[in-house]
Amino acid sequence: MSDHWVTVIPQDPWFVPTVQAQQQAAEYFSQIVADPDCVEVIIHEGVELHDCGCNLAGILCPSCDEFLDEEWWDAWTGEDYDVDRKTQTLTPRQLTCCGESYSLHQLYYDFDRGFATFALEAENPNVGELSLEQKSNFEQLLGCPIKVIYSHL
Ligand SMILES: [Zn+2]
Repeated sequence: MSDHWVTVIPQDPWFVPTVQAQQQAAEYFSQIVADPDCVEVIIHEGVELHDCGCNLAGILCPSCDEFLDEEWWDAWTGEDYDVDRKTQTLTPRQLTCCGESYSLHQLYYDFDRGFATFALEAENPNVGELSLEQKSNFEQLLGCPIKVIYSHL
């Protein structure tokens, strides 16, 4: 049996909700997944990649829809990481496909990957995709637009 996760992150990679907002959103997540033990609040020191595991189908340039090379992307992600500050810097780079500049955060990922300092993660949550209503409840509780990442290993 494989493990899978549903991760809720703010769209803004640097955004960390207030402690009260974190707790309320974690409580709400626990209600949705019916197993409170599987919900975890994660706060990184800096911006970290939240991966979708083997759910990834491709990484695309948001401007010309060209597929980007994954090895090149991996190398870029490594170079983008500031070891001293323990954070992805998300510095924009010029892409070779069409010459537009984007940061790692701005690329189009199918399925979604995300960059975040704060994350709410549920392990084996027994839910499918979150509904629009659930997403907007999270956004209200956390006080920010969110992104949902589905991953399995
Ligand atoms: Zn392009």
